[in-house]
Amino acid sequence: MEQMDALIIGHGPAGCSAALYLSRAGFRVAVVGKDSGALERAEKIENYYGLPQPLRGADLVNIGRQQAAALGAALLEDEALGLEWLEDAGYQVQLAAGGMLTARAVLLATGKAKRAPAIEGIKEFEGKGVSYCAVCDAFLYRGRTVAVLGGGVYARHEMEALLPLAKKVTLLTHGTEPELDPPKEVVVQTARLTRLRGGEKIERIELENGQQESIDGLFVALGSASAGDLALKLGLRLKKDAIPVNAKQETQLPGLFAAGDCTGSFAQVAFAVAEGAKAALSMIAYLRS
Ligand SMILES: Cc1cc2nc3c(=O)[nH]c(=O)nc-3n(C[C@H](O)[C@H](O)[C@H](O)COP(=O)(O)OP(=O)(O)OC[C@H]3O[C@@H](n4cnc5c(N)ncnc54)[C@H](O)[C@@H]3O)c2cc1C
Repeated sequence: MEQMDALIIGHGPAGCSAALYLSRAGFRVAVVGKDSGALERAEKIENYYGLPQPLRGADLVNIGRQQAAALGAALLEDEALGLEWLEDAGYQVQLAAGGMLTARAVLLATGKAKRAPAIEGIKEFEGKGVSYCAVCDAFLYRGRTVAVLGGGVYARHEMEALLPLAKKVTLLTHGTEPELDPPKEVVVQTARLTRLRGGEKIERIELENGQQESIDGLFVALGSASAGDLALKLGLRLKKDAIPVNAKQETQLPGLFAAGDCTGSFAQVAFAVAEGAKAALSMIAYLRS
């Protein structure tokens, strides 16, 4: 397990901008990212300062990453699956490739908030059986029946946390084929999930094919872990799926910061870069305090 001063999740404009400031201030910084984020789909950027001619979004991301690496940041092509607070080590992030990193300060910069899936009942049963953190809540489901909604590496991470405790784990891929082979004890259900039913707590799910299943808990792990998913694992509340921050990009948790599209700010490169820089200055003050 590697100990860093600062860890940045997301290597887009917000994350790499923060990495420049933190590296130049002499801190050990790791930046974890898995693809080019929002800019992957941007054909032509021509409204960002300093570009003599329009640039493809993916090229702008690569330049930002090269710049951060040249200044000493450690860039890791990986995916963050979980985030925990450890009393003696600070924040710990679990990576898809299997490793862990710990850092005293963390910046969430994973881009636009993921919208809650439009499944009837999912919002109503949050905290009443619907969970976003298997590591946090698995013990509540000892000997009980649970389902994981998702199909990729993030969903597998959540299933692995549940399997040693739950009586039965079903993987709900919501109309797609699983991206990975799930553990053999897991039952796979590919029909779309349409509705959650229950009273005080979730009691059953209804699928598009008319099937119904009794469950005690549903763990949402669609796609990759977003900043919102990671924040929920630490007990933060979201505001319209975005991470609430103050003017210094601080969240409500000491040492945890957020910048860029994940904070719900105006979705433009210039805003993400500015928030990343502001977050880095706050992280530097935090690390020196
Ligand atoms: C089609 C399109 C065109 C656009 N055109 C323009 C334009 O012309 N001008 C302009 O200023 N803006 C434009 N934008 C908006 C701009 O792309 C975003 O505002 C900006 O990229 C936000 O930066 P960010 O760093 O917050 O997030 P992103 O750029 O989305 O970066 C997020 C990063 O987080 C990483 N990530 C996500 N989840 C994880 C995880 N679990 N583990 C590790 N890494 C993770 C991703 O790999 C990515 O590196 C456009 C956006 C789109 C979609």
